[in-house]
Amino acid sequence: MSNCCVKISSGGYLERFHPCPNQGKYQTAGKWYCGMHDPKRIAARRAKIREKLDKEREQRTEYYKRKEMLSVFAEGIQTKDLDNYELVLKSGH
Ligand SMILES: [Zn+2]
Repeated sequence: MSNCCVKISSGGYLERFHPCPNQGKYQTAGKWYCGMHDPKRIAARRAKIREKLDKEREQRTEYYKRKEMLSVFAEGIQTKDLDNYELVLKSGH
């Protein structure tokens, strides 16, 4: 086992690279990577984030679609005409 093979960028104007100080724990395509830089783990992490974002987007879309739909149903209803407007809101969400 050797150190992680990834070179880390210093960023900025005078960009330099230094080797990742972590121990290589995972071998991918003949190279050692630490837990942070292993391509398989990075891919898995990204997939997880993407999945979460997709789900959130879906929920958001659903929320707005539902709102749009409800407003169609509620067309012609004036909230000032409702005695129990507050109650309707509370029972809704
Ligand atoms: Zn590393």
